[in-house]
Amino acid sequence: MIEVTEGVYFIQGQDEMLPDSHVYLIGTAASKDLTLVDAGITGKGKYKIQSLAQGGVDLTSIKRVIMTHTHLDHIGCLSEIMKEIPAAELWIHTFEAEPIEQGDDRPVYGMQMFKQMCQAQYRLAPDAFKFKVHRKLNDGDILDIGGMSWEVVHIPGHSMGGIALYLRDRGILIPGDVVYADYAIGRFDLHGADAAELKKSLLKLAAMEVNILLPGHNRIMKAVPKGYIMQTANQWGPYLE
Ligand SMILES: [Zn+2]
Ligand SMILES: [Zn+2]
Repeated sequence: MIEVTEGVYFIQGQDEMLPDSHVYLIGTAASKDLTLVDAGITGKGKYKIQSLAQGGVDLTSIKRVIMTHTHLDHIGCLSEIMKEIPAAELWIHTFEAEPIEQGDDRPVYGMQMFKQMCQAQYRLAPDAFKFKVHRKLNDGDILDIGGMSWEVVHIPGHSMGGIALYLRDRGILIPGDVVYADYAIGRFDLHGADAAELKKSLLKLAAMEVNILLPGHNRIMKAVPKGYIMQTANQWGPYLE
């Protein structure tokens, strides 16, 4: 676990056969009110918990897990992590919270073929991704957590209920899989994805001032050049219509 900037920590995903999402820990140590953003792929719960412990995090200070979205590479090891922090809440955008509560796992697997492959590989039970969601998030919600004030920005397109968390006063953006470093964007062919929505979401993010970009995979960017997200949106624009 490394400190990206005050009150924001990074645990790098450990990709193997399938990608494993990064986890961000947000909240100042003094607040004793910490939040995990995303979990990771099935089987990586132990690695994520060990990383937190090695970073000196008191697990009882972790009050909630917020999902940027519920694809398998982000929610796969959520149950493994929740076992270690049973009092923590789960917060997800309304559009993905509802299927998760009902045990509808189409937003998790994204496509039927992938579901069959993963259920066989990881021996997953049919209801492996049915969770109680303690708070359903919506665009514009302000989350006063961990001594900071994060905004929820609904950015559908890669998934239906994808969100970014945005710390406006410091320009810190956690956009899940919508936009990455190196002018890359998230795929838009899975269940609930929509290319036109993704384009709108990229433009929405492009209008925001971003200094630090903390995506779900690959490199993090600590000094984002001005106009970076707009350039990314423009490059991909013709493919998103
Ligand atoms: Zn995703
Ligand atoms: Zn991902």
